[in-house]
Order: sequence, then C-alpha cells, then structure tokens
Amino acid sequence: MALAETPTYQYLAHAPGRVNLLGEHVDYNGGQVLPAAIDRHVDLLFSPRTDRLMHIHARDMEQEAFFSLDTLEDRLCLDGTPLPGWALYPAGVAQALTLADLHLTGLDCSFTSDIPMGSGLSSSAAVELSFAAAWNYLAGDPFDRTRLAVLCQQAENQYVGVNCGIMDQFSIANGQEGYALLLDTGTLQFRTVPLPPDTAIVIADSGERRSLNHSGYNERRAGCEQALAILSCQLPGIRTLSDVSPAQIDSLITELPAPIGDYAKHVVYECDRVRQAVGLLEAKNAVGFGQLMLECHRSLRDLYKVSTPALDTLMELATQAPGSLGARLTGAGFGGCTVNLVREAEVEAFIRQVKTGYLAATGKEAAIFPCHASQGVRVTSIIP
Ligand code: ADP
Ligand code: MG
Repeated sequence: MALAETPTYQYLAHAPGRVNLLGEHVDYNGGQVLPAAIDRHVDLLFSPRTDRLMHIHARDMEQEAFFSLDTLEDRLCLDGTPLPGWALYPAGVAQALTLADLHLTGLDCSFTSDIPMGSGLSSSAAVELSFAAAWNYLAGDPFDRTRLAVLCQQAENQYVGVNCGIMDQFSIANGQEGYALLLDTGTLQFRTVPLPPDTAIVIADSGERRSLNHSGYNERRAGCEQALAILSCQLPGIRTLSDVSPAQIDSLITELPAPIGDYAKHVVYECDRVRQAVGLLEAKNAVGFGQLMLECHRSLRDLYKVSTPALDTLMELATQAPGSLGARLTGAGFGGCTVNLVREAEVEAFIRQVKTGYLAATGKEAAIFPCHASQGVRVTSIIP
C-alpha cells in the first residue's frame, strides 16, 4: 500500500506518555514512585486482518513495515531486511503477548505521537501499550491493565533490549485523570494521590536526547546492586535499597566505596522523600512537595550524577521564575526534560521567563509546555 493512500481504520488506541513527579532511579530498587500519565499521546489507528501479517505505517518516521507474527524471532521484514528500530516495539509486544498465550491477529495500522522521543516522557512505552491494548481489545480484554504493563516491560527488556523498570508501562496503563499514582515497584500495589489544587505541571525539554547514554544507566543499576550486596552483610533483613533507612545509610556509608556510596545514598533518601511527599500532597501542601522536588534534583545532580549542564540551567531558571514551587530533572537523566510544579495563575509568565533565560544561557530554544494528569491507555471503536 502506498503511503499516499489513506485507508480507513476501525479502532483507535490512545496511549499517554508519563512524567515522574518524584521517586527517580528507585523503580529498580524496590522503591515507591509518583508518576502521572500526561495528555500527550500515541494514537494508533488499527483494523484486524484475517491473516497473521502486520502492516504498520509509522507516520512520524514516514516509514512502513511489513512483517509476519509467525517469524518474530527473525526480526525481519517480509522482504528480508531488518525490522526498523521503531518496529521492534510492536514486534516485541506481539512476542510477549504470544508467550502469555494470547492469540493475535495481524493488523493494518498507522500511528503518530506528540510525545517527544528520547526525552524521558516514555514515548517508547506509549507505543508498546497502544499495541498491547489493541490486541487485548480484539481478544475480548482478557488481560487487566497491570498485566499488560508487565508484558510490555518484558517486551522492552527482552525483545528491544532496554533494561527499563516497570514504572513507565505501569503509569501509561493505569493513569487516572487529575491524579498521580503512588506505585510500589516491589509489589505493584498502587493508589491515586491528588495533585495540589491550583497548580500545573509544566515540562521543559532541554532538547538533549538521552538515548545516547544507556551505559551510564546500566552502570548506576550495577552500582545499586553492589551496594545492596555490601549492606546486606550488615543489615541481613533488607531485600532492596528501599528497605534501608536514611539513618542506616548514614551510619554505614563508609563501608561503600566511591561512587556507589553516593548512588545508594541517593536511592535511600529518594525513597524517603516519596514517603514524605504522600503526606504533603494529601495535606494539599504544594510548597512542601515542591521543596522535595528541588532536593531530588540536587541529589540526582550531586550524588547520582545523571544531570547535565542544560538540565541544571533549566532547574535554576525555574527556581527564579514566577509561580515556581518545585523543579527537577525527570526520567533517567543524561538529557531530556525537567518537570516543574507551578502556580496555575502564573504558568504563562513562568514559561516565558524560563524560555527567554534558556535561550540567553545556551543559545537554544527549549520546548516548554503545561500538561495535565490523564487517563491511561484506552481503545475506542471509530466505525460510524
Ligand atoms: P523515551 O521512551 O524516553 O521517549 P526511548 O529511547 O526509550 O525514549 O524510546 C524512543 C524510541 O521509541 C524511538 O527511537 C522509536 O524507536 C520509538 N518511538 C517513540 N515514538 C515513536 C513514534 N512516534 N513513531 C515511531 N517510533 C517511535
Ligand atoms: Mg523509553
């Protein structure tokens, strides 16, 4: 089928991105995180086929891929060329769902997204969840949202080869309008937490793409595992770093060689910040929550060392801008975005000042936009 043709599709899967408000680099350490799904989306239009072939048009890439659900292991298109990088996500989801005994039909489909890629807002997990929700819908919804999230994480870990935690897929599956999710990444128990009234979440994109630095992420993960092994000798009851208290890490810090002592200290204090944050949010204390965001940024910068000069600049500019309550880098770091909590009435002035300051400091434009906590992935029929 030529790109110029515009086929009609029967269904739409609408999958949000996500922003993490607090609890950074704790999702692979058994800690609690506070993400929200956002009103930026992957829109996947699809119709089932009667065979097992996939025909996907990735409109933002201006590319198409044709492959068979019967030869996913080969990672090849029907013409024998390798699957393009973006097609690994739907193919990986197909494989994970198949391994979970879901019978899949082929799809004719087309997708586009307004979630910036590689900026820490989980465009990849949104692509995964849109396809997972599509196949689940066509099969009569046998899997609940959490199961879909786990299967999508499995797809990204095993098929795509990115060692991500569960937070991204989980928040995109289970997001709730107007709320953040308090997710225990050890048990996958979660509950909603209201966002402070009269505030807005504002995202500032540094324009730096973090996909260049998977090794830095893997090195931090390995460092946390090493710290856990050493601390377990002194604290035999712990299963993850989230079980260690700030007082314990402070008294044992000399046992840990550099830099893993700093990594462990970040994780332990960050888990503690999330615990404090829940009480503050429930008491509608936006100022107190904003302070925790600032502490989180400093810890990611000075201890976990995943910030960049551009992210530090965005954070510093934010603290001086009108209406600012809190600012920090969000996502894995090494580039990407900051997330800001801003008084609703001053959002426009905030954005104007940070944009102007960033241009003056770096010579680059930052995309800065407000967003709202949104509902998780959903599928609708668009047959008239
Ligand atoms: P993040 O999830 O933080 O945005 P990743 O590096 O994990 O960054 O995922 C980005 C990748 O996801 C892209 O390189 C691409 O393969 C895929 N992807 C995301 N959005 C789209 C899109 N709109 N069209 C095609 N592929 C996409
Ligand atoms: Mg991703």
